[in-house]
Amino acid sequence: MKAEIISTGTELLLGKTLNTSAHYLTGQLSDLGIEVLYHTTVGDNKERLTETLKNALQRSGLVLVSGGLGPTVDDLSKEIAAEVLGLKMSYDPESMQSLTQFYINDRMPPSTEKQAYFPEGSILLPNDKGTAQGALICKNDQFCAILPGPPSEMEVMFQKYLLPKLEQIILQDSGRMQVRILKIFGLGEPELERELTVLMQRKSPSLTLLDRHTYMDVRLTVRSGDVSQAVRLLDQTEAEIRSRLGDGVFGSGTDTQAGIVGKLLLKNNLTLATAESCTGGLLGGRITAEAGSSAYYLGGVVSYANSAKETLLGVKSSSLLQEGAVSELVAGEMAEGTRKALGADLGIATTGVAGPGGGTADKPVGLVYIALAHPEGIEITKNQFVGSRESVRNMIVETALNMLRL
Ligand code: ATP
Ligand code: MG
Repeated sequence: MKAEIISTGTELLLGKTLNTSAHYLTGQLSDLGIEVLYHTTVGDNKERLTETLKNALQRSGLVLVSGGLGPTVDDLSKEIAAEVLGLKMSYDPESMQSLTQFYINDRMPPSTEKQAYFPEGSILLPNDKGTAQGALICKNDQFCAILPGPPSEMEVMFQKYLLPKLEQIILQDSGRMQVRILKIFGLGEPELERELTVLMQRKSPSLTLLDRHTYMDVRLTVRSGDVSQAVRLLDQTEAEIRSRLGDGVFGSGTDTQAGIVGKLLLKNNLTLATAESCTGGLLGGRITAEAGSSAYYLGGVVSYANSAKETLLGVKSSSLLQEGAVSELVAGEMAEGTRKALGADLGIATTGVAGPGGGTADKPVGLVYIALAHPEGIEITKNQFVGSRESVRNMIVETALNMLRL
């Protein structure tokens, strides 16, 4: 199914508000295997929104409109959708009742009444965070959903009420589609294309590669009326990909490396401590973003300055003097230092040049040592990352997690 997103609101065209909703919705739809073909942003203007919606419905089976559900005169999304689809607006007494209840202690502004009118035949989408309900309109195998402007309202409505409907629609869609996503670390697009050439030439499942910055998604899509046949085909292809890529596959669906590492630590009854220089706590942050991480993560030391490396982690001043902070030797001492200081089974340390400045000829920007200390010894990797400070730091974190995973 092809989709497009229309973001309404003059503020979006004034450069005052970043259009986060289109980004969010696109991610959600593409996770469902729905291809988003266009984003359009249009101000609160009747003629232009009408024209935009007409165009969208001519070329796409699913159109998501955000904004313009409010009570004010420039909130016109539902009315315009009804007009474009040739539907009347119909009154929904239950919505009026909940609006009345919402304003029980205040006088309800008369303009609010329009929030109880929807294009006829709409499936109403409740708004848990506000008064403006959304609507999903289905006509002639086309779907148009109207969602509220405020991102917090829109996201909850999408997740709780629209997503299940979209899943049903996809299932009923003639080309019934099953999607599986495998998550890959350490291999870029060219390597994946090379490794998976044979599989990519097959018609079904169709394979697409998505660059997620620190990792890659391989998306497998099967269109088939027979769900169990589709699942078998996906299982087979997943097994082939796993055998070709080995440890490169770290998970599927919504898995994260931090989550996978957490499960492994729990399973093996191991505890972890961190020592971070160039990542300044980002690694600890990523580890603790996983619920339940207190069961295996003891804590960490952010030792940015050399003095902190010495006092908090017991890094030798001679090591710092001879090799410098960005060195294999110091990385190892940091990892062992945090392991001892926190009494953990494993200690992991990062030290490097995150950039953009600070690089030298022998220690260029992006040079990073990551050390993993465990009861049997220390493993150290030397890495050369490229990109902005942000992407270098994110890559360090994911590389460290990858070391813990393997
Ligand atoms: P309201 O009931 O508030 O009038 P509405 O459905 O008409 O709701 P808007 O008025 O268009 O929504 O937007 C409400 C708020 O949400 C504004 O602060 C706006 O900046 C923000 N917003 C709207 N659309 C987006 C978007 N696409 N991305 C990020 N923020 C948005
Ligand atoms: Mg508005």
